[in-house]
Amino acid sequence: MSNTTKFIFVTGGVTSSLGKGIISASLAKLLQARGYSVTIQKLDPYINIDPGTLNPYEHGECYVTDDGAETDLDLGHYERFLNVPTSQANNITTGRIYKNVIEKERRGDYLGKTVQVIPHITDEIKERIQELNEQHPYDIVITEIGGTVGDIESLPYIEAVRQLKWELDEDCLVIHLTLVPYLAAAGELKTKPTQHSVKALLELGVQPDILCCRTEHPLDLELRKKIARFTNVTINAVIEARDASTIYEVPLLMQAEELDTVVLEKLDLSKRNIPNLDRWKEFLDKLKNPKYELNVALVGKYVELKDSYKSISEAIIHAGVANNARVKVHWIQSENINSRNVKEILKKMHGVLVAPGFGSRGIAGKIEAIRFARESQVPFLGICLGMQCAVIEFARNVLGLVDAHTTEINPDTVHPVISMMEEQKRQSNFGGTMRLGAYACQLKPGTKIYQAYESDQIHERHRHRYEFNNAYLTQIKEAGMIPAGKNTESGLIEAVEIADHPWFVGVQYHPEYKSTVLNPHPLFVAFLEAALKHQLSHG
Ligand code: GLN
Repeated sequence: MSNTTKFIFVTGGVTSSLGKGIISASLAKLLQARGYSVTIQKLDPYINIDPGTLNPYEHGECYVTDDGAETDLDLGHYERFLNVPTSQANNITTGRIYKNVIEKERRGDYLGKTVQVIPHITDEIKERIQELNEQHPYDIVITEIGGTVGDIESLPYIEAVRQLKWELDEDCLVIHLTLVPYLAAAGELKTKPTQHSVKALLELGVQPDILCCRTEHPLDLELRKKIARFTNVTINAVIEARDASTIYEVPLLMQAEELDTVVLEKLDLSKRNIPNLDRWKEFLDKLKNPKYELNVALVGKYVELKDSYKSISEAIIHAGVANNARVKVHWIQSENINSRNVKEILKKMHGVLVAPGFGSRGIAGKIEAIRFARESQVPFLGICLGMQCAVIEFARNVLGLVDAHTTEINPDTVHPVISMMEEQKRQSNFGGTMRLGAYACQLKPGTKIYQAYESDQIHERHRHRYEFNNAYLTQIKEAGMIPAGKNTESGLIEAVEIADHPWFVGVQYHPEYKSTVLNPHPLFVAFLEAALKHQLSHG
């Protein structure tokens, strides 16, 4: 075991969306599988303090950690790959860096000095990178720099990397992810964008140690030699990163390219044992060779951008594998659902999932979808707003409270079955003020949800302002909706289900955030199990 922590920086060149997060998570997985303790951090060059205030269309899903941090969706990949929780320290934005520096300036910490990008902002970045390691010393910290080299926004980050590379010397290395595009007209892979991108990095004083080259075709030895020659990188450190059919294959592709070996050699770390990826391979094998095929509707309002529900779709993949099933997710825009077409849209579905969300758009369609699932006995999972809509639907159509609503959408409803928590009413800011992070919940023995978890004590992550209104609890219970999960401290209802239904569960929390490859989430597993049963009995 080394006694100094090693730092790996992952930068991106040529274009965004090359998958730095997946490459980082895959490398971390390989190092972890050799017995190293590894964590991954994401530095985001935008000015929002966190992505909590961002519309999902802007930046995809907002991922929530146990400690209640609203973070970039890449942290979800880190947890899903590594099976270890992340925290606020794993995601830092430029906004947070500047906020910290400005707060220090106001406190007088800089003793009258002029506060500048260099050294104050870069020092703050360096501290945030090293801070992660202070809480829990890791063997290796991988820091992914968001954005693309050459962006004005990411300059201070690249400068911080340059300084750290100098200070940490052999305890540090830089992996640059680039694109080697295939030009169909020329019938060739082109290395020029990679050459330019490395040049841009060199101009900022950073020599990459390893290049991961995204490509649709194999990189032959000649091409690797050419790239190495132009970029001062050893040939064995020019890594081919081919497009994969699933992100879960990338660790194995990287292993075949010996990315982990090159990293360990360059960091002067022992190669130890060959990584044990047996369970991972077993997962992949089942993923690629399913026995069953299921159709599940994902009803939401951000369906045009699948990244908005990233953790949900990944949790469905994990749970599908646990059930030996490939799940075809039908992304259904809730705005398009109404009482006339709902049956036609959902009749072939083996399960219906109503997604989380904010605001009124598409609510009516969600409620129609829930009504269909309830009345037609189709397995249903409602998450956060999806659970709230299930309560509204039940109150309206079973209890006959026609006006029942959430006060988020109709503040004047006569029947606020979902309403805002008292402490939320006192909040004037939007950012970071919801009920966030992990809370304990007690499950009622005998319920479906209890059977799924096989436990009566769970901890799940939240992100919402509105809650089940306990003033309606007795009425709702008497009509057949069971309060299946409760926060015993606050008395808040965290989960509901319908007694007279094969599998109808709504949860106020977000189970999807905790599903990983090695620990598929029990609620998703149980939902798909019910979907399989539905398929067997209904076709
Ligand atoms: N808009 C709802 C609330 O704030 C639900 C939030 C969600 O689905 N994450 O309570």
